[in-house]
Amino acid sequence: MLFAPVNRIIPFSNVDGPGNRMAIFLQSCPFQCWYCHNPETINMCIHCGICVPGCPSKALAMTHGKVHWDESLCEQCDSCIKICPHLASPKILTMSSDEVIDKLSEVSSFVRGITVSGGECMMHPEFLEELFGKVKALNMTSLIDSNGFVRFEDYPRLMDVCDGVMLDVKATDPKFHQQLAKHDNASVMDNLRYLLSVNKLTEVRIVCLPRFDEQNRKTIEDVVSIVKDQARIKLIRYRPYGVRKEGLDILGSASLDEELFLEYRRYAQSLGAGEVVSV
Ligand code: SF4
Ligand code: SF4
Repeated sequence: MLFAPVNRIIPFSNVDGPGNRMAIFLQSCPFQCWYCHNPETINMCIHCGICVPGCPSKALAMTHGKVHWDESLCEQCDSCIKICPHLASPKILTMSSDEVIDKLSEVSSFVRGITVSGGECMMHPEFLEELFGKVKALNMTSLIDSNGFVRFEDYPRLMDVCDGVMLDVKATDPKFHQQLAKHDNASVMDNLRYLLSVNKLTEVRIVCLPRFDEQNRKTIEDVVSIVKDQARIKLIRYRPYGVRKEGLDILGSASLDEELFLEYRRYAQSLGAGEVVSV
């Protein structure tokens, strides 16, 4: 039985893939994107204890050198997350695939399946393979929401039980991707082509940024030239909510201009994209 660090589970989500789905967010991500909306999912807790005195509900305590979270006392005020200087959270549950399936069983009459996101859920590929096999046995579907850091080609058995991948392409220009995500995009671009070739690319997600018009257009152009009309392209408008100071300094504290965002959608369509959605 395999285990993974779970940041949270949303029993019903209609924004994490087609239909109503249970969304599972796993902890840790190798990227540190400027616009990350949930930066507390980036790192694993290092048990420094800094957040413990800041909990107004006494839900946190240090026990044998490790921070312990008492879910029954927690009021979900998120003070601990705001205090943490390490882009982590003390509210992580280590769950087995069976425990996740138990959660799914509670809502299985109302959802089509699961979507696993993060953080970056592909940091835990063997766990996903085991979990998705169990979901398949329930006649439900499993989707991955990924930043493309880990090569899917290296996990053929996972691909057999995975129904599709929603892939983030943050930038196609390698230098800009390195700046934006603090990591290069070689594996992302390889994954884009690979997932398309094995018919597992459910959606490509592109975040459109203020102040980087040239890079936005290049990413849209490059993605459409590869994907054509073979997968849905989702354009996501930059919004500053939850973005940490580094990102706000670079991208600003206003959302991307709405008219420009709509122009990007028309641009993708003019290049020959199939379904383009903008959110
Ligand atoms: S969210 Fe964090 S700070 Fe707030 S009650 Fe829960 S453990 Fe304490
Ligand atoms: S969540 Fe952050 S502040 Fe709290 S113990 Fe872990 S690393 Fe330290």
